[in-house]
Amino acid sequence: MKPLVAIVGRPNVGKSTLFNRLVGRRIALVEDQPGVTRDRHYADAEWEGRAFTLIDTGGFVPGEKDTLLKQVREQAQFAVEECDVIIFVVDARAGMTTADEAVANYLRKAGKPVVVAANKLDNESGQMQSLAGEFFRLGLGDVNAMSAEHNLGMGGLMDSVVSKL
Ligand code: GDP
Ligand code: MG
Repeated sequence: MKPLVAIVGRPNVGKSTLFNRLVGRRIALVEDQPGVTRDRHYADAEWEGRAFTLIDTGGFVPGEKDTLLKQVREQAQFAVEECDVIIFVVDARAGMTTADEAVANYLRKAGKPVVVAANKLDNESGQMQSLAGEFFRLGLGDVNAMSAEHNLGMGGLMDSVVSKL
């Protein structure tokens, strides 16, 4: 079986956009409405000759009691439990939120290798890239500035992912 890489993070940060970018096809539904990806989506992907299976999740709404959002979270937790490496996506334009911090706390406890993807940095200006720096204080190591939509920073992100496989 190929190693599993799970994409997690709060809703609307760009997880499905990243998944589609890495898989090279539009499988996951990208939506402005949070919580669209209710189930887990799996697809085979490859980076520099390393094959792996990618899992898109519906997002992680910590502490949410609503039945649907609770199910979405449970699916994400299941993906974290079964995966080998986690890509933790945050919205670097929106900045740090309490939901990001709660997801980070959960991931720390899960004890799996984590790569932080600071998404929505749509151009390579220093001003924009510096927005990624805030997420260092999550204490999860390197923060990869990237834009799933504009295909920026994918090399650094994925080199980091495959180095942990
Ligand atoms: P998910 O809920 O985490 O799966 O997020 P989606 O992939 O559905 O994306 C949520 C919204 O963010 C959509 O409107 C995307 O077009 C947008 N988005 C995703 N990646 C980027 C990016 O790199 N830059 C910008 N500006 N928007 C993005
Ligand atoms: Mg999604």
